[in-house]
Amino acid sequence: MDDRTIKTLKQLPKIDEILLILEREDLARSAPRDFIVDSCRFVVAEMRSAVMAGTKRKAGAAPDLSAESAAQRVKERIARLHVPSLRRVVNATGVILHTNLGRAPLCEAALEKIVEVSRGYSNVEFNLATGKRGLRYDHVRDILCAITGAEDVLVVNNNAAAVLLVLNTLAAGKEAIVSRGELIEIGGAFRIPEVMEKSGAVLREVGTTNRTRFADYAEAISDQTGMILKVHASNFRIAGFTEEVELTELVELGMKRNIAVMNDLGSGCFIDVKPYGFDREPTVQEALKSGVDIVTFSGDKLLGGPQAGVVLGRKEIIEKVRQNPLNRALRIDKLTLAALEATMRMYLAGGDAVQAVPAIHLLTTPVAAIEKKARKLLRILNKLSLRHFAVSLKKGYSMAGGGSLPTQEIPTILIGITPRTMSAGKLGDRLRFLDVPVIARVADEKVLFDLRTVDESEFVYIREGLKEIDDRDGS
Ligand SMILES: *Cc1c(COP(=O)(O)O)cnc(C)c1O
Repeated sequence: MDDRTIKTLKQLPKIDEILLILEREDLARSAPRDFIVDSCRFVVAEMRSAVMAGTKRKAGAAPDLSAESAAQRVKERIARLHVPSLRRVVNATGVILHTNLGRAPLCEAALEKIVEVSRGYSNVEFNLATGKRGLRYDHVRDILCAITGAEDVLVVNNNAAAVLLVLNTLAAGKEAIVSRGELIEIGGAFRIPEVMEKSGAVLREVGTTNRTRFADYAEAISDQTGMILKVHASNFRIAGFTEEVELTELVELGMKRNIAVMNDLGSGCFIDVKPYGFDREPTVQEALKSGVDIVTFSGDKLLGGPQAGVVLGRKEIIEKVRQNPLNRALRIDKLTLAALEATMRMYLAGGDAVQAVPAIHLLTTPVAAIEKKARKLLRILNKLSLRHFAVSLKKGYSMAGGGSLPTQEIPTILIGITPRTMSAGKLGDRLRFLDVPVIARVADEKVLFDLRTVDESEFVYIREGLKEIDDRDGS
């Protein structure tokens, strides 16, 4: 180290000096004391590195080493702490059940119920009729049984938990028979073979990736068998030379050999999506009608409710699953339960869910209605006379997401923004940095807003956001 560097390092501010400035500005209590002191040290360390780096590069301008400048940087760190992290965003991706963006938006009734139940106390585990302890599952049992025809109900934290819990209850230390074509990975590292291992069940793979026959299952059954598991392929399709065994056949086999059969549906759906132009998807009701012992599915995929795992099926099995100590660790909380109950109620009144449950509504909105919405946004954006962006209308496709209805193209209308002075990727970044972030697609040097997942009430964020970026971007 040369003399000049040593001299410069001596000018670094003292922690106490920085703290004094913060105290004078009444900021010393805006965050925990230890955090503030750590931040001072961090900032001074940064300054020291800058000095060292500057010496190496023999750079001209000396860095600002004043205590004021350090205090300013500490203030910025404190300010960042006060910015809410979990926030609303505008989902302009057209992926309806976007797992990273929170999957299903909740219906109004669910939101109201969450507030009502959580502001004060509730009867979450209190039976008002008897004045004794109640079961939290009772709040959704009658509704779910009425909609699906199931004998009994259990709800847990999410579907991964539901699968783990049922496997552990019925097949720990035993074998669970699964087709090789169904050993899937869902996003976020949920892999059926790994979940099985954690549940204590031994995976007994049968068949091949593309073809599994009835005989494969029948021959695998032994006195080690705990259950037969059928898993919905969810996020992929095997096309071409394929064969799989129908659920009804597995149910027959299970009955004959006295073995429980479970169907992990992944995205449980109560309504037939075929009339809306989709390929046939088995509904929860159909799966149960086949006589399967247990079905499991997510609350926040096509069902359109909160994150939850729903387990439906035969009473004596549900009872066993409920009493598994692991259930206590995976239990559903009261906010989720409130939202789930309110959402399930939407399915009681016939076709109401298509209007009232946002996820189903977004999925089934006809493209003509989306085009109308898109033209409205187009007019709004054209009125801004943006200098740096060209705005256009395009046809495209939305996606169900959440491992639901993969490979199914859902026609939609997009608004395309072509930037003249920056890359589309850069514009995508800028939109993400807005106070209300707008998450869009970027393709073909355009930023694309899919109007299927954007509500008219959110146009204001797109309009103001683009205007702000346009204004700030000079040339
Ligand atoms: C999505 C999915 C799961 C996991 O459900 P989460 O609610 O995300 O925990 C499990 N199995 C299948 C088949 C799925 O599609």
